Amino acid sequence: MTHPRAGVDYPRSLGELQAWFSTDASCLDYLEWLRWPGGFICPVCAHAAGWRLGDGRFMCAVCSFRTSVTAGTIFDRTRTPLTVWFTACWLFATAKDGVSALSLQRTLEIGSYQTAWAMLHRLRSVLVTPGRDRLSGTVEVDETYIGGQEPGLSGGRAKGKKVLVGVVVEVKEPKGFGRCRMAILADASAASLRPFVTAHVEPGATVITDAWQGYSGINGLGYVHDRRSQRAARARGEDPGALLPGVHRVASLAKRWLLSTHQGAADQAHLAAYLNEFVFRFNRRKSRSRGLLFYRVLELAVGHDPVRYSDITAGQKPRAVLPTPPRTRGHPPSLDRPPLDRPWRVADLHDSG
Ligand SMILES: [Zn+2]
Repeated sequence: MTHPRAGVDYPRSLGELQAWFSTDASCLDYLEWLRWPGGFICPVCAHAAGWRLGDGRFMCAVCSFRTSVTAGTIFDRTRTPLTVWFTACWLFATAKDGVSALSLQRTLEIGSYQTAWAMLHRLRSVLVTPGRDRLSGTVEVDETYIGGQEPGLSGGRAKGKKVLVGVVVEVKEPKGFGRCRMAILADASAASLRPFVTAHVEPGATVITDAWQGYSGINGLGYVHDRRSQRAARARGEDPGALLPGVHRVASLAKRWLLSTHQGAADQAHLAAYLNEFVFRFNRRKSRSRGLLFYRVLELAVGHDPVRYSDITAGQKPRAVLPTPPRTRGHPPSLDRPPLDRPWRVADLHDSG
């Protein structure tokens, strides 16, 4: 949907979220509406004809394929109740800086840290919109090291165990920044930097870089190359760090976010996913409606292929930061709550009786 309406197509507040999605059934109905706004479409033969079976699944009228609303999405075969998913998605999408697995586990009374951690990784994995536009206009490009220990070295492109990350950000006139992109680079060679630039910047853009030789030849790729020498800036008595203010701003915000929200828990194997989340947040930092972000994340989630636990842990398993309660990888309790009739009054009656 191009222009979803607040209070109609998505909840405006936590109160509205709880009122709309008090049962797992209402969550499922919302996912059905998001996935098939015009009614069921067969994921196999693409015919828009079918009916609902007694168990809630759908059957295609043409090829007889049976499926469910959540099959083929990131909620495929989930053992986590949808009420828990919706609240997790709300916290993930509406908190300005996102939410850590530990805080999610505590807030939703999820049995294990691993379950909360995997839920956030599934949500994170849907954030890169397929076919998104490349950055345009005037952009700054640079590389920075993220993660590892700060050895107190300054500058240089050959630091130890840190991960090299490419950063590109749109520069607005007269001031301010537009969208950004970040991606892990194999190294700072031209062979790594050129594909990074062409993947993320629209041809015709003006590309501002420092004088690093890895950026030579950018002209030949259809860009206007504005090369700024740090040495020349130093010679002029200017601050060489101020040559590329946009990328330095984005890089320092990303590093601060990894240290604060995630307390440095973003290991190397999952850094790319965390960077995607940071870019998603940065590029929507001016969005007035947080509820709209909740809608967008769920919309992406029902359009995204399933993400298996083994896919997420392919590189590395989550850190065992806490003693795991007995219900290891247990199903979190549903947040499906029947309305209670003033329990505080009922308790009074029992106490006095
Ligand atoms: Zn079919």
